[in-house]
Amino acid sequence: TELRSKTRTTADWQAADAAHFLHPFTDFQSLAKKGSRIITKAENIYLTDSDGQRILDAMSGLWCVNVGYGQQALIDAATRQLKELPFYNAFFQTATPPAIELAELLAEVTPPQFKHVFFTGSGSEGNDTIVRMVRRYWDIQGQPGRSVIISRRNGYHGSTMAGASLGGMSAMHAQGGLPIPGIEHIDQPYWVEHGQHRPAPSRLKAGDPPRGAGDEGDLGAGISREQFGLVAARWLEEKILAVGVERVAAFIGEPIQGAGGVIIPPATYWPEIQRICDKYGILLVSDEVITGFGRTGRWFGCETFGARPDLMTFAKGVTSGYIPLGGVMVGERVAEALIERGGEFEHGYTYSGHPVACAVALANIKLIRELGLVERVHDDVGPYLAEGFESLKAHPLVGDAESCGLMGAVLLVKDKDGLKPFDESVGIGMVCRGHCFREGLIMRAVGNRMIIAPPLVITRAQIDEMMALIRRCLDLTL
Ligand code: PLP
Repeated sequence: TELRSKTRTTADWQAADAAHFLHPFTDFQSLAKKGSRIITKAENIYLTDSDGQRILDAMSGLWCVNVGYGQQALIDAATRQLKELPFYNAFFQTATPPAIELAELLAEVTPPQFKHVFFTGSGSEGNDTIVRMVRRYWDIQGQPGRSVIISRRNGYHGSTMAGASLGGMSAMHAQGGLPIPGIEHIDQPYWVEHGQHRPAPSRLKAGDPPRGAGDEGDLGAGISREQFGLVAARWLEEKILAVGVERVAAFIGEPIQGAGGVIIPPATYWPEIQRICDKYGILLVSDEVITGFGRTGRWFGCETFGARPDLMTFAKGVTSGYIPLGGVMVGERVAEALIERGGEFEHGYTYSGHPVACAVALANIKLIRELGLVERVHDDVGPYLAEGFESLKAHPLVGDAESCGLMGAVLLVKDKDGLKPFDESVGIGMVCRGHCFREGLIMRAVGNRMIIAPPLVITRAQIDEMMALIRRCLDLTL
């Protein structure tokens, strides 16, 4: 195989790819026509493709390679564990040292309410676990009627039946009979789409009672982002009251919606969501699959935005994507019920607590600590990226540019005045993405938003290089 890999050309790879490999979230026929790009190796923040082109990976793979590529400590941890004990499960009263040690370390790096973890193989499985766990919690509390979970349109929580149902992606819901019963959606806190054209409210402040849908606005010149954060959080309260408090189990959201286009909520949003969940006793779930492990400049996104969730889903950055692993951090309130009064929880996966994955996660988290990556994002490269993004606003195509930690989005507009969008048929994001692809930059397009989430090890000089590439691609898109 080694020999054959070396002698295959890009065209050979593409032909075999088209003949046998059905890619996720892909129009299969499109690959048969143009073939995919074959990535053969990577180091630090750079990929190399089968034609030898170097590409700056401003997406950390799929938001996961937090420590960058080629970290020897992770490779060594996997190798050692593969030799010593490649697999043993955590079913039937057994456990392995890496899984126990990781559980212990996660209790240390997560917010103080978290002392327990339930391992899964991915973020989607983590969110399936959330659905079963919150419903189980309310059963144990003697309130089985509390089964509805509220999430948001344009949120992303994975691709399994429950994960995709929690998510609010209409294209996903159009296929395969989704959503499953008992999931309700509210609108996202996206100011550009839902806020900028609203009249300004005269009296709205944190803690005001809701006055019904559409009643948040009086006359005025437009709602500020901060006011809009409160309005958007009130949609949760309205939904809870519409469904009936006695039927609502939990609210789930990503601190920053990633796949939805890096939608950074106003600072007022999450504290208000927290207040509403507390008021009605509803469990708050933070999906930290993207925002966990330093991405926003704190260990977890909920810490950046001032929420105190009862449950947290994680995956991706826990191993920097070197090997699959996910899980759910279970806060005291839920853990106490499950442990003391729950009996057997009829749920789990063969790879819950996989020893090799856990050994890699341990090495990864220790490396994040050793390199001080979380502080670095918070104090140094995060603010530096924000400056770069601020300067992008002068570009004629850019209606808005914002970042938080090392996540950012550039909104491409037809007219800066009123942030008027391009017609969808132009496919402006895909045009820009095409230029990035050719220029050696991985940037993702979500509609008219161009998004990035580079590895946390990126340096200031590399941010300069990335910004120059972004500017060049924007110029080419003009
Ligand atoms: N939750 C969020 C916020 C995600 O961004 C993703 C994946 O992108 C998932 C869940 C699903 O994780 P996985 O693809 O590991 O199943």
